Amino acid sequence: MLATVPSATVFGVDGRPVNVEVHVANGIPGFTVIGLPDITCREARDRVRAALVSTKLQWPQRKITVSLTPPGIRKMGAGLDLAIAVGLLVADEQLAPQTLDGRAFLGELGLDGSVRSVPGALPLIDALSSPEIVVPEGSVVEARLVARHQIRTAGDLGSLVLALSGRADWPPLPPPPDPVVEAPGADLGDVRGQPVARCALEVAAAGGHHLLLVGPPGAGKTMLARRLPGLLPDLPHDQAVEVTRIHSVAGLPLPPGGLMRRPPFRSPHHGASAVSLVGGGSSILRPGELSLAHRGVLFLDELGEFNGTVLDNLRQPLEEGVIRVARAAAKATFPARVLLVGAMNPCPCADGGPPGLCRCTSRSLARYTRRVSGPLLDRFDLRVEVGRPEVHDLLSMAGAGESSATVAARVRAARAWAAARGVASNADLQSWQLDQCAPLDDGARSCIERVLSSGHLSGRGLGAIRRVALTLADLAGDRPPLSPRHITSALALRTTPSFATLRAD
Ligand SMILES: [Zn+2]
Repeated sequence: MLATVPSATVFGVDGRPVNVEVHVANGIPGFTVIGLPDITCREARDRVRAALVSTKLQWPQRKITVSLTPPGIRKMGAGLDLAIAVGLLVADEQLAPQTLDGRAFLGELGLDGSVRSVPGALPLIDALSSPEIVVPEGSVVEARLVARHQIRTAGDLGSLVLALSGRADWPPLPPPPDPVVEAPGADLGDVRGQPVARCALEVAAAGGHHLLLVGPPGAGKTMLARRLPGLLPDLPHDQAVEVTRIHSVAGLPLPPGGLMRRPPFRSPHHGASAVSLVGGGSSILRPGELSLAHRGVLFLDELGEFNGTVLDNLRQPLEEGVIRVARAAAKATFPARVLLVGAMNPCPCADGGPPGLCRCTSRSLARYTRRVSGPLLDRFDLRVEVGRPEVHDLLSMAGAGESSATVAARVRAARAWAAARGVASNADLQSWQLDQCAPLDDGARSCIERVLSSGHLSGRGLGAIRRVALTLADLAGDRPPLSPRHITSALALRTTPSFATLRAD
């Protein structure tokens, strides 16, 4: 007999509906899965068999064929286990065919018959069109976010079969978690001194401009970068769902309510491979750090220590806001709209020794600067040098600056101006929009002409200066046209780091 059970599989950061067809017939006993299953999915045979036996259900000694349709897409992971098990029980007439009416099933089976959560529950559930869904207990939070289905859950195959056959009630759903007020993160008020770096953080948050911090160890570059997410506004609902989907697919823990309302902060190690940074993988396509930081901050500490090829892989996604991954099995796109923050020492030997004492060879220095020079450096609209804080800043309260909440309020106001221009932040303004959105007064025009004629600014750099200047105007509450003050401030936040000589300052 044949049974068809709706379920879903993950593709990129999306769910794709899958029909699990189970056919049980007389013949040589066996179990075959067809329809492009990956290795984990093919191993469903062993998990389903053990789960049935553990639950004291009968494993049919017949010829079992499982076909996963549509056949063209690769079925990944163990999420189809539950659908296969239920389909098998119906096809073997241990359950009535009506138990499948209007129901979809999702979940991995443990060998003891337990029903386990699978990564990507949010996009998987979103892909299901059946009115009623049966999901693992751990996925109920994500099912509530989709809010489109009658949700059922069961902790194990035994209680599921009892509920499906009407011999017991459905197990109750876990109660919705209490609304949690998220603990505030690190506060900008803790940072002593550093007026230029603080200003750069505020401009980066308000305008979405990528930021490079260059300074010796102990200058507080990491401390500053970690305070950037706290300056960003809450994610609007659609973006929060988008970010939650990515983290769900990656199998990362979600906040108690399920929805990620705050911009993520990711800080991969400089030893990270290209795959872990941009995503992909030989068999399973996984989101990388760049996608996990989508709508939030990607912090690359020790930027000069990252592999040059790995950094090259960042350029295209930073430009387009998406990553296209092509593998023999499939092509997928991952969202990757991040605020990039890089931090680096002025030179590879920077070990906190006395200023001016650089022990680098000219070769190692050249290799170090080459990694971040040129096209990647050009992506950073804000580049500031961060010095060690002065002793009196560290000791006195006088060095304490504004709190994150105060700065975040200005950032919100500035972003409202960007929204009025039809973009999320000024960094998203296209070149053709600049004349309309960021016009220059006569003084600003001649100021820019002077810089251009000096040959220190590329055409791309010019656009960046105007966007940053516009953000500075928005933060100050000034309306365009931009004045020389805005342009010179933007230029001051875009120094060309002179890596080798910084320590001699
Ligand atoms: Zn050095």
